[in-house]
Amino acid sequence: MKRTKTTTGRNMDTGRYGELKGILEERRREILSAVQTKIKDVRAEGSSGMMHTVADAAESSESDIQDDIEFALIQLKAETLNKIDEALRRLEEGSYGYCFECGEEISEQRLRALPFAVRCKDCEEQREIAAQRDRLASQRSGRSSLFLDMSS
Ligand SMILES: [Zn+2]
Repeated sequence: MKRTKTTTGRNMDTGRYGELKGILEERRREILSAVQTKIKDVRAEGSSGMMHTVADAAESSESDIQDDIEFALIQLKAETLNKIDEALRRLEEGSYGYCFECGEEISEQRLRALPFAVRCKDCEEQREIAAQRDRLASQRSGRSSLFLDMSS
């Protein structure tokens, strides 16, 4: 494998490019097959469940909820698919896999666990600490305003 270092910087070497593309496409396949299995399941349950729903109204409303959950799950997966396509597009552009904050390469290990990570581990941790501080601060002010409301 040939590794060409360029002065323009952002040109990913082909090894990493291939790895990242592999991660995204693998995830894409997993989701697609999960959705297809789900749809088959829903159809199978739908046809066999028909006889019960007439006899038991409670069960039918329960299966409605079940359908809603299934639908929400499929929708969630569809959104994830969009994210994967988006990530693949960014990969083509050469911006995928780099930290949004500091521009460093996000480790492959991290991208395997979190394919849509836009920050490296360090930046994400810093952001979480900052977010936690904000949450604590707003909790404290929330509590004190509640206290004021109660005393007035
Ligand atoms: Zn970073």
